[in-house]
Amino acid sequence: MTRILLLGGTGDALRLARTLSADDIYSLAGLGTVPADLPCQVRVGGFGGADGLARFIEAERIGLLIDATHPYAAQISANAARAAALTARPCWALRRPAWEAGEGDDWREVDDWAALVAALQPFRRPFFTLGREPLAHLARIPAHQHWTIRCLQALPATEQARIIGARGPFALDQERLLFEQLGFDVLVSKNSGGRSTEPKLQVARERGVPVLMLRRPALPPVTRTFADLETLVQALASAPDRQP
Ligand code: NAP
Repeated sequence: MTRILLLGGTGDALRLARTLSADDIYSLAGLGTVPADLPCQVRVGGFGGADGLARFIEAERIGLLIDATHPYAAQISANAARAAALTARPCWALRRPAWEAGEGDDWREVDDWAALVAALQPFRRPFFTLGREPLAHLARIPAHQHWTIRCLQALPATEQARIIGARGPFALDQERLLFEQLGFDVLVSKNSGGRSTEPKLQVARERGVPVLMLRRPALPPVTRTFADLETLVQALASAPDRQP
């Protein structure tokens, strides 16, 4: 049976890992928790770039590489495509469609942190929901701003920042309450797509709060892409070389 190497670090990847076989390998970067109850093998940590990944694929006789990493994890996705090409193995990727602005949305796309800081200038109470990056800039918060940062890591508040440690999914009522209590005047987000963190966008719309959206990175072409987990699982189940 074709041996799978699944690159993970997302909820969808974890769900996919739960459908794999004992011979398959689920790979994590090592930033979050490592599940101990999977039917497949689990490995943690980088491979050492595309070349390291290619060596791993050869050494472990991997037959199919599946990239189910986050849409903003551009480096590992590039490495996956390159390693698959180097080893002449197929690479499948789960690529969640981006969210799209609708009626009543005020979304402003920014390319990077510098553009984001400039676009934030008119606001006083931003709500950051794009991971750890703002933590590196706590010493340079403009005097007129108070930041709320939601990321996986809970940290003590500073005079100008509150850091909420939380992991999605986030329910609509929960998000409404947070916006109400903390009075955000702008939301800062990646365009992650998917349902689990989408309610914040609805609340921003309801409250007329603008959204500063970090633009998605370009991802490399691969053998097959899937827009949702179910389609990928079906394709895997019907692949002749996956029958035991
Ligand atoms: P990245 O910049 O694309 O990758 C940085 C390096 O981390 C890679 O070059 C690779 O090291 C290692 N790496 C990443 N994913 C790996 C995996 N699944 N297995 C083994 N090594 C991995 O990634 P990132 O943005 O720092 O994200 C790190 C992880 O967090 C990813 O797995 C991603 O799915 C998850 N995640 C990211 C975000 C986000 O917003 N970026 C959000 C949620 C979850 P080597 O070059 O040494 O192989």
